[in-house]
Parts: sequence; C-alpha cells; structure tokens
Amino acid sequence: MAERWDVIVTGLGAMGSAAARELARRGARVLGLDRYAPPHAHGSTHGHTRIIREAYFEHPTYVPLVQRAGDLWEALAEEVGERLIVRTGGLTIGPRDGALVSGALHSATRHGLPHELLPSEDVAQRYPALAPDPGSVGLYEPRAGVLFPEACVRSLLSCAARDGAELRRGEAMLAWRVEGGVVRVATAMGEHVAERLILTLGPWLPEMLEGTVIPLTVERQMQHWFGARDHAERFSPETLPVALWETPDHVFYTIPDFGDGIKVAVHHQGEATDPQRVRRTVSEEEDARARDLVARYLPDGAGELRARAVCLYTNTPDGHFLIDRHPLHRQVVIASPCSGHGFKFATAIGEIVAMLSLDQDTGADLSLFKLRW
Ligand SMILES: Cc1cc2nc3c(=O)[nH]c(=O)nc-3n(C[C@H](O)[C@H](O)[C@H](O)COP(=O)(O)OP(=O)(O)OC[C@H]3O[C@@H](n4cnc5c(N)ncnc54)[C@H](O)[C@@H]3O)c2cc1C
Repeated sequence: MAERWDVIVTGLGAMGSAAARELARRGARVLGLDRYAPPHAHGSTHGHTRIIREAYFEHPTYVPLVQRAGDLWEALAEEVGERLIVRTGGLTIGPRDGALVSGALHSATRHGLPHELLPSEDVAQRYPALAPDPGSVGLYEPRAGVLFPEACVRSLLSCAARDGAELRRGEAMLAWRVEGGVVRVATAMGEHVAERLILTLGPWLPEMLEGTVIPLTVERQMQHWFGARDHAERFSPETLPVALWETPDHVFYTIPDFGDGIKVAVHHQGEATDPQRVRRTVSEEEDARARDLVARYLPDGAGELRARAVCLYTNTPDGHFLIDRHPLHRQVVIASPCSGHGFKFATAIGEIVAMLSLDQDTGADLSLFKLRW
C-alpha cells in the first residue's frame, strides 16, 4: 500500500521550498519532490541575488504581501543563523510619469511607505556610481534590498526537513491525476498518494497542467556581472542601493557588488522558450549589449565581465502572479507563475499555498492572482 500524504509539493524551488517548510511547520505530512537537487541553476532561482522592494510599481496590492514576506525572510535568517537578506535601500529611476516611478509612488503613498523623490542630479550626487538620464527622477525607499536565493532555498528546505517533511531530490513527477477523491502522482519510483497537491514547477508548469490549458509563456532572461573599472568603493552594498531603471529602450535593474561583481539584467524582452530547448549560453553580442547598458548608466562599473547566466521567467498574460486552485480540481493548488518578480514573495506565497491546501483562511487579498484568462 502506498503511503498516504496530506500534501505533495512538486517542485522545490523558491515557491515549493517555502510551501513545504510552511506545511511541515503546521504539522502536515508532506512529501516534496524535485527533478533536480535545489538550489540549482536550471530554473528561475539562481544568480546570487534577488531584489526585494516595497514601493511596488506593479500594483499596491502587493505591498502587504511583500511586507509579510520580508518579515518571514528576516525570521528565517534569524532561525538558521545565516545572512539571507540585506536592506541596501532601493531606487526606482525613470521619467516622473513613467510606469515605474508613478507606480512606485502610488504604492508608497497609498501604503504610507517612507520614500523620497529625487531629481536626477541629486541621485547622481548622492550615488556617484549612477548616471540617470537628465530630467528623470529617482524614488528612494530605505527598506528595499537583496535576498540571496540559493541560501534562502537551502534554508527553507533544511527547516522543512527538520520539521518532518520528506524531501526527495532527483525524483521528477511524470504525471498526476485526481481519482477517488485523492491525488495520485506518478514518478519513476512509483506512485504517491495524497489528499492535496501543490504545483510549484516554475517554468516546467505548462507541461504539467493535465486537462487544462493556461496561457503561460516561458521567457529566457540573462544576468551579467561586471567588475568596476574605477571607484570600486562606489559599488559596495554599503554605498549603493539596488536600482530599477526605466529608460527609453529598456526596463532593467542593477545590484551592488556583493563580491561577485556589479549585476545588471534587463527585465523581459527575452525570447520565448521552454526549459528543454532554452539556449543556455550567452552570445558575445548579448555580453556587449549588457556592457553598453552599464557603460551608459553606471559608467565606472563597466570593467571586466566576470560572469553571466541564463534564467527563466514564467509569465502570465497580465504580468501578475497566478496563485489559485486548479480550475478542474480544487485539491490542486498552482503557485509558480510570477512573471519574473516573485522571489521576494516566496515566504508569503509559501504560507498562502500551505493554508489554501489545508483549507484555512489566508486572510490575504488574492483577487489579483486568480486564474482569469
Ligand atoms: C534572471 C532573473 C531575475 C529575477 N530577479 C528577481 C528579483 O530581483 N526579485 C524577485 O522578487 N524575483 C526575481 N525573479 C523572479 C523569481 O526568481 C522567480 O519568480 C522565482 O524564483 C520562481 O520560483 P519557482 O519556485 O516558481 O521556480 P523554480 O525555482 O524554477 O522552481 C521550480 C522547481 O520545479 C522543479 N521541477 C520541474 N519539473 C518538475 C517535475 N516534473 N517534478 C518535480 N520537480 C520538478 C524544478 O527542478 C525546480 O526546482 C527573477 C527571475 C529571473 C529568472
């Protein structure tokens, strides 16, 4: 007889590791499965750093959620005794009436977040590493910063295991079905049976939706790291905030040098792909484009190219998250497509999906994240 679990979590990346941890903490009998051994560099959760910010340009609904997530990251860091989060402060830079600055300002005022709006000259004077476009502005928020995704996932998984979750690395779900009121998950090792299933498969989700089609797209993204050409001290996390930029050609972000180099990455504008056929190498032309961006906006930062990595976004049609029950099977919760901005929320999303799958009231406003396409 197959062992029967309360919940099976498939995919133990950012969202799944947080869900498994939260379920185990609540005393549920949890089985976690992953096709690889997270943290790994095949999906969406690698590259040393992720930005956390509260003045959320995408929509004010995210603000309470990111605040809850930030508290949970800090509590986790204390629990495991590791550096998981650093609040460097953050800037949203662009035209005053552009989507980023106006959206961030809207969230900041709506939720009473501490912030300052600086003209571009003040940004450049305060942070001499940065060279914003003349006429642009920078919204500064002190509580933004970075998370270290690999250490975060490792910590979540170790807490989950400590609290009794059974975690199986290298065991991929091949298929699932709901039958006789339970969920049956097939892997190469056999069949697992549970009351509930959580699908946190990141970019592999579209191939595992069994019986329904949700219009998700997987997008190839790059991350580049450069050494400083001059004034290395201007790029340290003690002096430089994380920054999100809206410029005529791109939305991109920059992260100070935590020892791996100054990080730059364009947000979206990547090619459509999937985890099987994604081009994992980066061309010289792509390196040159990243360097041009740094040379224009952080001129002293365009030193030697230290590293680059390809990563994957899983996008919904409107760029918001999808956190909901499967349309045909209410025992199944879907919670991975985060359109390239989900990592910071993982602890809060883990808590929400754990509660959804245990039929508890989450108390969170999930209206923006419902399946609606
Ligand atoms: C370049 C880049 C930069 C980003 N920057 C930021 C940022 O600054 N701030 C921010 O908040 N967010 C950011 N994001 C988004 C964020 O990183 C993602 O939303 C988040 O990491 C996604 O986590 P996930 O758990 O959905 O996916 P993943 O972490 O990829 O996890 C999916 C897991 O499912 C497993 N899996 C797949 N198929 C199966 C199967 N059949 N059976 C079992 N297991 C399976 C995989 O092995 C994997 O471990 C960025 C993303 C990228 C790519």
